[in-house]
Amino acid sequence: MRIEEGVKLDFKDVLIRPKRSTLASRKDVDISREFTFKWSARRFKGVPIIAANMDGVGTFAMAEAFEKNKNGLTVALHKHYPIKDLLGFFKKNGGKSVWYSIGITDDDQKKLKEFLKSDVQKSGKGIEKLCIDVANGYSEQFVDFVKKIRDLDSGLTIMAGNVVTGEMVEELILCGADVVKVGIGPGSVCTTRKMTGVGYPQLSAIIECADAAHGLGGLICADGGCTVPGDLAKAYGGGADFVMLGGMLAGHDQAEQKIVKEGGTKYVQFYGMSSKDAMTKHKGGVAEYRASEGKSVKISYRGDVAGALQDILGGLRSACTYVGARRLKELSKRTTFIRVTQQINTVFGNE
Ligand code: 5GP
Repeated sequence: MRIEEGVKLDFKDVLIRPKRSTLASRKDVDISREFTFKWSARRFKGVPIIAANMDGVGTFAMAEAFEKNKNGLTVALHKHYPIKDLLGFFKKNGGKSVWYSIGITDDDQKKLKEFLKSDVQKSGKGIEKLCIDVANGYSEQFVDFVKKIRDLDSGLTIMAGNVVTGEMVEELILCGADVVKVGIGPGSVCTTRKMTGVGYPQLSAIIECADAAHGLGGLICADGGCTVPGDLAKAYGGGADFVMLGGMLAGHDQAEQKIVKEGGTKYVQFYGMSSKDAMTKHKGGVAEYRASEGKSVKISYRGDVAGALQDILGGLRSACTYVGARRLKELSKRTTFIRVTQQINTVFGNE
C-alpha cells in the first residue's frame, strides 16, 4: 500500500485569478479552436464542447440543435440507436457534427463494420469521428481494441477513454487515439466513487493528462463534473482541449424522452448509462456479476437547449475577457488558479 501526499484538486477547489487585459468586450473573444488530429489528420474547427453519449443528451435532436447553433459544437451519439436510424441520420446530416460511439462488445464492432461498409460511408457522408467509450480505460483489452480500430481505418478520428492518469493517456495515444477522454467518477449521475472507492479529482486529472497528451501531439477531452459554465472555463484553463457535458445539457426538448407532468411542474428522468434504469432499458436488466454504477434522477424540464448553450458560451467568453485571452486557445496560458475554501455564495440557495 502507498499513499500519495500531493493535494489533488476539483473544480470547486479553485478560482481563476483575473488579469489585466486590453479586451474591450466579450464580443472580441473567439471561443472556437482549430485542431488537426494526430492520427486521422482531419481538421476540426468549432467550439470544443461535446454532448455526452448518454440517453437524453447524445441524441439526433441534440445534434440538429447544435447544427442550428452554428458554433461547431458536436454530439457524441449514444450507443443505442439502431443501425438503420444511424444510417438515416448520417445520410441526411453527414458526420461533421457527431461522434459515433461504441463500446468494445462484439455487437458494437459488428454494427460499426456494417456502417463502414455501407453506401452512406462510401458517399462521404458517413462516420468521421469515433468515440470508443468504456467505464474503465485501464484494461489491456481496451488498448488492443483501440489499436484494432486504428488499423481498421486510418482516416477515422478516434477519441478513447476513460482514464485519469498521464501514463495511460500516453499509451492510448501511442496506440492510435487522437483524443483521450479523461474522467473517472466525477459525473452528475455517476456512482463509481461510491461503489468502488476509485477515482481522481477532475481538475488535477485534466492538468496531468493534458500535459501528457500534448507532449505527444495528442488531445484530451475533459469528461464529467462540470456543473456551471465556470467549470468549463476551469477545464480549458487546466489544459482541456474538448469538454464533454452530460448533466448540464440534460432535461431539454432535445432529450427525446418523455416529459412527465406532476402537480403542474414538468420533469424529465435523467440517468447514468450504467444505472439500473439504463441497463433495464437497453440490456433487459442488471447482469448478476455487476452492480449499477450510475443513478437516476428526476430533473426539472428546461425547455430548448438553445438557452443553456447561450449561458455556457456566454460564460466562457466572459471568462476569457477576465484573463485577457482573445482566443480560447490562450486561456490555459493566461490561467492562474488560486486555491479557495469557498467559491459560491449560497445564501439564497445553490442556483
Ligand atoms: P456530467 O457532465 O453529467 O457530470 O458527466 C457526464 C459523464 O458521466 C459522461 O460523459 C460519462 O463519462 C459519465 N457517465 C455517464 N453515465 C454514467 C454512469 O452510469 N456511471 C458512471 N460511472 N459514469 C457515467
